[in-house]
Amino acid sequence: MQNNCIFCRIIAGEIPSATVYEDKDFKAIMDISPAARGHVIMLSKRHCENLLELDDGTAEKALLVARKLARALKAELNCDGINLLQNNGEAAGQTVFHFHLHLIPRYQGDRISLGWTPGAYGDGEAQALAAALAARL
Ligand code: 5GP
Ligand code: ZN
Repeated sequence: MQNNCIFCRIIAGEIPSATVYEDKDFKAIMDISPAARGHVIMLSKRHCENLLELDDGTAEKALLVARKLARALKAELNCDGINLLQNNGEAAGQTVFHFHLHLIPRYQGDRISLGWTPGAYGDGEAQALAAALAARL
């Protein structure tokens, strides 16, 4: 628990939240400023800054909990789709530096924008980068 971390304080019950799901590793709550009705954020109970610092057990379980939440959102809202969004670092849009995963209900024609302008690789560039990354794994 980090005293200056808003998500740690929510997990500790010091700050109220609309809780959707809770187990020993995760707490899922309604986002206070939702991108869409039903926008849920899933917080790790243990404080860590982002995905890169997540322990193995929590990382392994995260997608199972996310799937459970996604199925509940689909059943309740009958949304057309759901985005999972997980920001790591300020440059990636992270504003709360405690691991969390967004689940955002989507509808055909909604006005939520998570897009980018597609880029392109030069000759051999993708292969070279793939090899460089593979060498680090
Ligand atoms: P990030 O930009 O770090 O990926 O997302 C942080 C999210 O946390 C934002 O969508 C923001 O609305 C949400 N958030 C920040 N403070 C609170 C809070 O006190 N309560 C709840 N429920 N959500 C919060
Ligand atoms: Zn925290």
